[in-house]
Amino acid sequence: MSKTLTAPLAPGSVIGILGGGQLGRMAASAAAELGYHCHIFSPEENSPASEVSKYFTVANYDDEVALAKFAEQVDVVTYEFENVPASTAAFLIERIAVNPGPKVLHICQNRLREKDFCNSIKVPTTKYAEVTNRENLDRVVRDMGRPCILKTTEMGYDGKGQVFIGPDTDLKEAWKAVVGDRKKAETILEAVVDFRMEISVIVARSIQGACQTYVPVENRHKNHILDQTIVPARISQKISDRAEVIARHMAEEMQLVGMLAIEMFVTTEDEVLVNEMAPRPHNSGHWSMDACVTSQFEQFIRAVSGLSLGSVYRHSDAVMTNLLGDDVNGWEEILSDPSAKLHLYGKAEAKPGRKMGHVTRVIPRK
Ligand code: AMP
Repeated sequence: MSKTLTAPLAPGSVIGILGGGQLGRMAASAAAELGYHCHIFSPEENSPASEVSKYFTVANYDDEVALAKFAEQVDVVTYEFENVPASTAAFLIERIAVNPGPKVLHICQNRLREKDFCNSIKVPTTKYAEVTNRENLDRVVRDMGRPCILKTTEMGYDGKGQVFIGPDTDLKEAWKAVVGDRKKAETILEAVVDFRMEISVIVARSIQGACQTYVPVENRHKNHILDQTIVPARISQKISDRAEVIARHMAEEMQLVGMLAIEMFVTTEDEVLVNEMAPRPHNSGHWSMDACVTSQFEQFIRAVSGLSLGSVYRHSDAVMTNLLGDDVNGWEEILSDPSAKLHLYGKAEAKPGRKMGHVTRVIPRK
C-alpha cells in the first residue's frame, strides 16, 4: 500500500528531499521560511542543499538501510531531480508519502512516456517515433524525414544524449553518439521543430486539487544550457493562455501533487508543442524568487506538504541569467547593480558549464 498525505504538515515537520543540488538548496531555504526542517538524502558529500538543511544523509540511492532510516525520520518525501531510481521511489512509497507520486515520476523519467502521455490527453508534441535498434534507425529516419533529432529516452539533460541528424549525417555515427557501442537501446527520434521561441510554464497542484500556474516565460539557451529567462515571454495573450491551459490540463490528468515544469516550443505557425517536463522546480522559474509573492520553491514546498498554494502575483517583470563556470567571478559587480539580485549555490569548484548561481534583474510593473 502506498502512503499519501491527506492533511497539511504542521510547522516543525521534516521534509525529506532526494538530491542535494541547488534546487534542493533553494527549496530547503523556502521550507525553513515556513517553519519546516529539511532532510537531504544524497550520495554527494557537502552538497549545496545539505549546507542549508538541518539533517542530511550521505548514501547511495540503492542503500535500503539508509533509505528505511530516512523514511522513519521524515514526514513526507520529495525530490529535486527526476532521475531518482524507480526502485528507490518504490521502496520509499511503501513507508512514507512521496510527492509527486510514482505515476508522475514514471512518466517524467522517460521522453517516450512523456510524449505518449501528452498524446493520450490530446496535448500536441512534435512528431516522434521509438527506435530500439541500430537497424531500425535507417527506416524510421526515412519515414520521419530529415532533419530530425535522435535522443536517449532517459537521463538526458542540457542537450546531453542527443544528436541532430541533418541531410548528410551518417546514421551509424549518430547512433553511436547517442548510445555508444550497444546495438539495442531505447531511443526516440523527433522531427525538428521550426520554432520561433522556447517557453516554459510552471504549474503547482495541491492535495486538494487546486492549481496555480506562473506566467509563461521565454528561455534562451547557449550550448544547450539555459542562459536567460525573460519574464514574461514575448508572445500574444492567446498563446500565453494556451500554454497555461496545457500546463493545468497536464497537472490535472497526472493527478499531480507538487510541481511540474513544462518546456514548450512556440512554432513559426503559432502552435504550442510540449517538448519535455520535470516534476520539480525548474531553472526557468528562479526569477519567481524575486518577482512574485510566492516563489516556485515556496510553492513547491507548499504543494508537497499538503498546504494551500500561495499567490503567484507577479509584482515585477524579470530577466534571469545563469552564472555558469567562471561567470561567478563577476559577483562583486553584480552586487553593485541595484536592479540585480544575486543567488550563489555555494559550490566549491567553478567547472566550465557548471551552474554556480544566477542573477535576476527585476523590472517593477507599473
Ligand atoms: P531537450 O533536452 O529536449 O530540452 O533539448 C535541448 C534543446 O535542443 C532544446 O531546448 C531545443 O533548443 C533543442 N531541441 C530539442 N528537441 C528539439 C526538436 N524536436 N526540434 C527542435 N529543437 C529541439
